[in-house]
Amino acid sequence: MKNYDVIVLGVGSMGSATCYNLALNGLRVLGLEQFEIPHDQGSHAGQSRIIRKAYFEHPDYVPLLQRAYENWHDIESKTGSQVYFPTGLLYAGRSNDILIKGVRESAEKYKINIESLSNSETRSRYPQFQIPEGYEVLFEPDAGFITPERAISLFVEQAKSFGAQINVKEKVISWTREAGIIKVITDKDLYTCKKLIITAGPWAGKIIPGLSSSLQVTRQVIAWVNPKQPQLFELRQSPCWMIDDESQPGMYYGFPILPVDKFGLPAGMKLAYHYPGVPSDPDHVDRNPSKEEEENLIEALHRYLPAGYSSTHVLKTCLYTNTPDEHFVIDFLPNYEKDVVIAAGFSGHGFKFVSVVGEILADLATKGKTDLPIGFLNAMRFEL
Ligand SMILES: Cc1cc2nc3c(=O)[nH]c(=O)nc-3n(C[C@H](O)[C@H](O)[C@H](O)COP(=O)(O)OP(=O)(O)OC[C@H]3O[C@@H](n4cnc5c(N)ncnc54)[C@H](O)[C@@H]3O)c2cc1C
Repeated sequence: MKNYDVIVLGVGSMGSATCYNLALNGLRVLGLEQFEIPHDQGSHAGQSRIIRKAYFEHPDYVPLLQRAYENWHDIESKTGSQVYFPTGLLYAGRSNDILIKGVRESAEKYKINIESLSNSETRSRYPQFQIPEGYEVLFEPDAGFITPERAISLFVEQAKSFGAQINVKEKVISWTREAGIIKVITDKDLYTCKKLIITAGPWAGKIIPGLSSSLQVTRQVIAWVNPKQPQLFELRQSPCWMIDDESQPGMYYGFPILPVDKFGLPAGMKLAYHYPGVPSDPDHVDRNPSKEEEENLIEALHRYLPAGYSSTHVLKTCLYTNTPDEHFVIDFLPNYEKDVVIAAGFSGHGFKFVSVVGEILADLATKGKTDLPIGFLNAMRFEL
């Protein structure tokens, strides 16, 4: 039997940074991942994830984001690898709708630099956008995107260099806790540890007792398209964007075209619709997007970025794990004292937090507390 200080169950987004923080602190850590690292079956595939600070979802996230930005800079400067790309972010929507209202509220509360652009300023600075009359436009200069696969690989490489053991293609079947010892059974072996951290993404409901009824996994569709005028959407020209469409509950968002020689495939301009998609079992996902899902994205381009579409390059799928209030769960698992830590339900907006969640989870497991304000993400708000 192999014994560790901490086992991290699931080495995707949150698990990779957690393994890194634990190993950096000299812990004997085992990371268990059912697939390769990274992979395209969970929540982290697809080249890019928006990072922003004026958080429309809730101002309480801002202190965590401030720390996340610091930690992204820290891992970049320690390794000499770039994972954060500042492009700025253009927000558009009705003043009283959730996006613009929420961005303003967080920006005011935390004095985040936000520019307000008139329609004519938007047209002259960003002629690729066609913003409807009556929509308000805000611009966050310090926002941009993170490269998820590269960030995960970087954290895992660093974790290993500090002595972490990371096992891939090894699936955790079950775990138990008896007399303060945690046993983890996989499809290959049996391990024990003092502390268990569960970062299982879309599979969290299957491996965390009591959580399944509070988590809904949905299949999301991402498109890479070839614009009619690609020069308008190149990385140096174009910001990331989020548009709160008044006729529907969700938001459209997109990225500049990322050069293949630097970012790899797929080529083209990426966009998606931020709203829970088709409910799915993570082990049986229909990976074929429907014509309707594709058309929803193309119509948004015709409406808001008319030079942004000539043909679809490729469509892919990815999974959200949604909580009822769309806020994360980061806490000790109730009824397991402080021996089991969980991080789940990132509801389609978690990646930008990876660098701070790794620090928080490592602190919870090793010190029994974190100095960062995560009370609003407690597990007790759901019935476990
Ligand atoms: C289309 C799309 C767009 C998004 N856009 C953004 C964005 O712009 N900005 C942003 O901040 N966030 C964004 N997100 C959200 C973000 O990517 C997720 O919140 C984040 O990746 C969740 O990380 P995770 O660690 O919970 O899940 P994952 O990264 O999926 O990691 C969970 C890991 O656990 C492993 N695992 C599970 N069960 C087991 C087991 N029994 N044994 C071993 N291993 C196991 C899985 O294989 C997986 O590798 C987006 C998500 C999607 C799908």
